[in-house]
Amino acid sequence: MSEQDNDYREIVDGEDVVETSSTEDTSVAEKPSDAGDEKKDKGDEYEDICYICRRPESVAGKMIHIPNNICICNDCMQKTFDSMGSFGFGGGDNANLNNVDFSKMPNISMINLSDLGGFMPQMPNSQKLKKKKSGEKKEAPVLDIKNIPPPHKIKAELDEYVVGQEYAKKVMSVAVYNHYKRVATNTMDEIEIEKSNMLMIGPTGSGKTYMVKTLARLLDVPLAITDATSLTEAGYIGDDIESVVSKLLAAADNDVEKAERGIIFIDEIDKLAKKKNTNQRDVSGESVQQGMLKLLEGAEVEVPVGASSKNAMVPMTMVNTKNILFICGGAFPDLDNIIKERLNKASSMGFMADLKDKYDKDENILMKATVEDLKNFGMIPEFLGRLPILFSLEALDEDMLVRILRDPKNAITKQYKKLLELDEVKLEFTDGALHAIAREAKQRDLGARALRAIIEEFMLDIMYEIPKDDNIGEVVITEDYILKKGGPQIMMRGCESLEDKNA
Ligand code: ADP
Repeated sequence: MSEQDNDYREIVDGEDVVETSSTEDTSVAEKPSDAGDEKKDKGDEYEDICYICRRPESVAGKMIHIPNNICICNDCMQKTFDSMGSFGFGGGDNANLNNVDFSKMPNISMINLSDLGGFMPQMPNSQKLKKKKSGEKKEAPVLDIKNIPPPHKIKAELDEYVVGQEYAKKVMSVAVYNHYKRVATNTMDEIEIEKSNMLMIGPTGSGKTYMVKTLARLLDVPLAITDATSLTEAGYIGDDIESVVSKLLAAADNDVEKAERGIIFIDEIDKLAKKKNTNQRDVSGESVQQGMLKLLEGAEVEVPVGASSKNAMVPMTMVNTKNILFICGGAFPDLDNIIKERLNKASSMGFMADLKDKYDKDENILMKATVEDLKNFGMIPEFLGRLPILFSLEALDEDMLVRILRDPKNAITKQYKKLLELDEVKLEFTDGALHAIAREAKQRDLGARALRAIIEEFMLDIMYEIPKDDNIGEVVITEDYILKKGGPQIMMRGCESLEDKNA
């Protein structure tokens, strides 16, 4: 270790030397004079926050670093010196910040700031803002939002993961294409392109959340998922409406720029419908819809960093929701009756009158939903106006459920196959077995969500028993096993290994 190196060590001696961790490479160690700075640039991509006034570096200016990862801004440090001077500790006029050698700060004898570390908790990264960075090397996303591919390519990527739902995939692809094209070109002059916020209607387990999650992953944009039922108007117990933006900021690693291009998915939006025939003040429904208007349209909101509620201890930042894509989803129970009523009314007059129960057996009646129906359901017109893209998902039938089990890139049967492959055991499902699982799921009325539950039930025994016996080479899940009429077919690996030996 060089002499200079020793100097540097002295300054930080006795501390948890965060800044000289093992990630430091040798080239840095050879240049100890700026080793600390380089390390900071490399390792710390978050903005420092002043321990005293809680302002971030971008607001308060350069920070003074003292051990234990504590940062203090120039202003607060100067104030500290001033007050020390007024108490006669030898600060006063002489203690001008410009004359102080900060590298020696921790060694001043009257207050050993490093001792404070024990009492003061370090500020977690979750409460810091990420620094804005230019040009960072990263894996390229499947779909690049800066150079957004045409809708058919977006849909082709979705096809790999999402089974069926052709109409929904098409609508989403076009909406996302338009949205990010608008963001990239920033055309806001005379012809203002409207935001492509979406409203998705679909029964439970039909893949609403899944489609949004897949889309966000392919686009590599941050995604926040919230339940509308947890939101309340400001001032009531529950999360403020703006907390959804806070969540998005957390999903973007506190990087404001990244969050401003993200997606917010608000599930169970139907629970915000206006209650009919009530004289009470409606706290959770209509007023939350009202409160969301501003966000949906695009506004600057002040959100807490690293927490869901505002309080004095949490730093705040401004986020603009202009380019955030909002997708709302809900099952809208009873909407089918409203649609049926409208359709029946239209078709029950005159010579062309249809049978009254024509639509009763239509499983996909939700596909015929219109804004008018949603208004009748209890959504306020202003809210619907800010979600211009309205579409419904199909109800999943048995064939679709089988395909969900088998086809997507990350299909659940493929996941189990992969798991057993790691134990060198082959896993197969017969067609009969897949259909039996799908039929059972259909009965439970939970859509595709029931599939995982059913498969997990009987795979538990398999996953428990198989690793016990090294001789098992293949397991075939049969219809009988699903229907609890028999066991799975198990093949020993003996023959193959014999063949191997002969070869
Ligand atoms: P919800 O509509 O209630 O939000 P989810 O999106 O949570 O339903 O769907 C539950 C699960 O069902 C997802 O995790 C996904 O694995 C599966 N799933 C549902 N629909 C599809 C689909 N069309 N293609 C592939 N998987 C699907």
